[in-house]
Amino acid sequence: MRTAEAICTKRGARLTDIRRRVLTSVWSSHAPIGAYDILAGLNADSGKIAPMAVYRALDFLMEHGLVHRLASLNAFIGCALADERHTAHFLICRACKSATEMDGAAVTRAVKKTLTAHGFIPEIEIIEIQGLCAHCSDQDVRRP
Ligand SMILES: [Zn+2]
Ligand SMILES: [Zn+2]
Repeated sequence: MRTAEAICTKRGARLTDIRRRVLTSVWSSHAPIGAYDILAGLNADSGKIAPMAVYRALDFLMEHGLVHRLASLNAFIGCALADERHTAHFLICRACKSATEMDGAAVTRAVKKTLTAHGFIPEIEIIEIQGLCAHCSDQDVRRP
């Protein structure tokens, strides 16, 4: 949270109360969390927050790299590397629902090279791999 504040201050952005609370609920969830669940959690704490306020807070947090959206799950996850601009690549476990942000530098380089080769200008880049994490693949959860 202090990192988040430092990043916002550095960029001249304001971590308002609602943004802070949305960020906290994303971080305190052990798995990626959907906007609806964030809203439900906040409302359970202190009642009546408009859904739009949560969506706007999420937009702000994504814009500043503090959270990422997992397209395949339509859910959000906090970013531990928020201080550096990067494209997020995720490993998503279907058994325990964890999502791990890969160190994507090599992937990013390979994608960039391919894009250049095709003269393609990227607008949305999503790399999400679903499967079983190391912990779950040790257990008997192989069958979907
Ligand atoms: Zn990240
Ligand atoms: Zn797992």
